[in-house]
Amino acid sequence: MQAPRGTRDFGPDEMARRRALEARMRSVLRTYNYREVQTPTFEDLELFLAKSGPAIRDEIYAFRDKSDRDLALRPELTAPVMRFYFRDLKMAPKPLRLFYHGPCYRYDRPQAGRYREFWQMGCELVGDDRPEAHAELLRLALELFEASGLRRYELRVGHLEILRSLLESVGVPRAEQSPLMRLIDKKELGPLEVELGKRLPREKTDRVLRFFEASNVQDARAFASGKRAADAAAHLDRVLSALATLGGDSSKVRVDPTIARGLEYYTGLVFELDAPDLGAEKQLLGGGEYDLSSVFGQPPVAAAGFALGFDRTLVALERAGHAPQSDDRVDAYVAALEAAALGPVQRAATQLRDRGLRVELESRPLPLKRFLSRASQIRARSAVFVGAKEVQRGVASIKLLETGVQHDAPMDAVGDRVASLLQAK
Ligand code: AMP
Repeated sequence: MQAPRGTRDFGPDEMARRRALEARMRSVLRTYNYREVQTPTFEDLELFLAKSGPAIRDEIYAFRDKSDRDLALRPELTAPVMRFYFRDLKMAPKPLRLFYHGPCYRYDRPQAGRYREFWQMGCELVGDDRPEAHAELLRLALELFEASGLRRYELRVGHLEILRSLLESVGVPRAEQSPLMRLIDKKELGPLEVELGKRLPREKTDRVLRFFEASNVQDARAFASGKRAADAAAHLDRVLSALATLGGDSSKVRVDPTIARGLEYYTGLVFELDAPDLGAEKQLLGGGEYDLSSVFGQPPVAAAGFALGFDRTLVALERAGHAPQSDDRVDAYVAALEAAALGPVQRAATQLRDRGLRVELESRPLPLKRFLSRASQIRARSAVFVGAKEVQRGVASIKLLETGVQHDAPMDAVGDRVASLLQAK
C-alpha cells in the first residue's frame, strides 16, 4: 500500500535535513522575538468558507464527522491563528508577534513542489501597521531565506491600494474588482485584457496593461490618482527605505505594483518571494497586510503576515545544491565482543548517554570484524568495544573512525574519555 496521492513519507536522512532547515529558521524567528503558536490541523469548514468564499470547498479536504459537523483540514494557518487571536489572545500586549510551523492540506494537483500535504511556516504581526513594522516583517522574511542557504530568490513588494485605485479610476468600482484581481494575481493578462475590453474603452484597457510594466513606486503612482493611491505610495516608500536601513541584500528586493494576492482580505502592502530556478511552482512565500476581523464579527485590528512553503524551499535548496547539511551521525557505536562483556558495555553506554552523547548499543556480542564494518556502515564517529582482553584489563577500547586511532580507557572513565576525544577532533 502506498501513501495517499500528494503525500510523502520522510526517511531519517530527509527528516534530518528538514529539521536542520527548521532549526535555522527558528533561530532567526527567535532573534525577532516571534513566538510560536499551534492550532488544530482541522477546523470548522465555515472558517475557510468565510475567509475565502464558497469556491474554496473544491480546493480543500472538507468532510463531515460522525456528529454531522462540517470540518476541513486546514489549507493554511492565517485564518486559524486569527481565530485563536480573536477568541483568546485579544488582550495580549500588542504588537503581538506570532509564528507557526505545521502541515496544511489542499486538494491541489500534485507535481514537483506541489503536494496535498505540505508544511507552512509563517508569521503574523498583530497591532502595528506602521511602515517601519512592515519593513521589519519583510526583513524577517528575507532573513529566513538567507539563513536557509538559498542564494537565488527575489522579494517583490507592492501595495493593493495603487492597483485598486487605478482600476477605480478607469471605471471599475471596488465592489466589482475581485474577478479582475484574481486574473492579475495569476498574471493571466490575456484574459484580463478580454475582461477589461468588455467594459472599458480601448485606451483605458491599455492604461491598465501599461501599469504592469511599472517597476518603481513613482512610475506606479503616476497611473493612479487620489489620496488613497498617494498614501499607499508613501507607505510603500517608507517601507522600502526602512527595509534598506534594516540591512540585507537590496538587490533581492524589487517593487512590483502588480501583485494582487487573489484573496479579498488583503488590504494594503503585499509581497511575494520566488526562487526563479523553480519554474512553475516558484513562489516560496506570500504575504501582506490583511483584515479578517469581519470573519469573526470583531472590530478591525491591524494585521500583516506571511506564509512560506517549507517543502518548496527545500526543493529550491536541493536544486541549487545547497541542501541543508545535518551532522546526524551517531557519536558512539558500542558492542561487546563476548557474552561476558555485555554487562560492561551496557554500563558504558549509559555513561556515554549521561554525557549527552548519541549512542547505538548492540544487543548481542559481535566479532570485531563485523562490528567495525557495521560501525563504518552506519557512519559512527567512534566505536567502543569490550572483548575478553579488555574485560581482563578492566578497560574499553575506543576507535575513532575518522582517524583510525585507537585508545583505551578504564571502564569507569569511558564516558569522559569518549566525550573528550570526540570534542578534541
Ligand atoms: P499561500 O497560502 O497560497 O499564499 O501559500 C504560501 C506558500 O505555501 C506558497 O508560496 C508556497 O510556497 C506554499 N504552497 C502553497 N500550496 C502548496 C502546495 N500545494 N504544496 C507545497 N507548497 C505549497
